[in-house]
Amino acid sequence: MAGSPDAPQRRVLVVEDERTIAEAVAARLRAEGFAVDLAADGPGAVEAARRLRPDAIVLDVMLPGFDGLEVCRRVQAERPVPILMLTARDDETDLLVGLAVGADDYLTKPFSMRELTARVHALVRRAVRNAAPAAPELLRFGDLEINLSERRVLRAGVEARLTPTEFDLLAHLAAHPRTVLPRERLLADVWGWADASGTRTVDSHIKGLRRKIGADLIRTVHGVGYALEVAR
Ligand code: CA
Repeated sequence: MAGSPDAPQRRVLVVEDERTIAEAVAARLRAEGFAVDLAADGPGAVEAARRLRPDAIVLDVMLPGFDGLEVCRRVQAERPVPILMLTARDDETDLLVGLAVGADDYLTKPFSMRELTARVHALVRRAVRNAAPAAPELLRFGDLEINLSERRVLRAGVEARLTPTEFDLLAHLAAHPRTVLPRERLLADVWGWADASGTRTVDSHIKGLRRKIGADLIRTVHGVGYALEVAR
């Protein structure tokens, strides 16, 4: 976005009650060309997301009012938006709950501004790409049905409610059925990350996908990656 005068300016909502962090993040994102709005508590964040319709949200978990997980749940129920969650420590519970309620990515504090801006750029790029009109397309593997244009998934006729990232991950695996895709490649293609430092993020989303569409469909190849195991 930055450096491209023709691209529309993207809007990021930063939700953090620690003022020094919020202002540092906002300043850096503005320097990267984003329009940035701030919210400092749970209710304010939900209201701002509704009113401002941001392209992405940077969301701290620890907030007054109600916490970031609840913000995530409420915002995603109204209008799906890419969310980068900030967790105070490497808290596995926050992380897993966050991904389950619809966060797409996370960073553990303390984080570098370089890392944060890279993640925000990747989130916004994916959101823009996903908003592009797609040809109606339906993938069917046995009782698994993936509707790419409506971004809906049915397993044995029952809708699986996937987060935006889970859907992208499944669609990617389904584009190469029965092929083992390395975690680094999934990170690059689905998340838009150039380095392999976030492979745990892939594992967490695979866990979520298995819970929602059935563990039998995704095979782990230890030390390598994942494959969608479907009948020919
Ligand atoms: Ca906080």
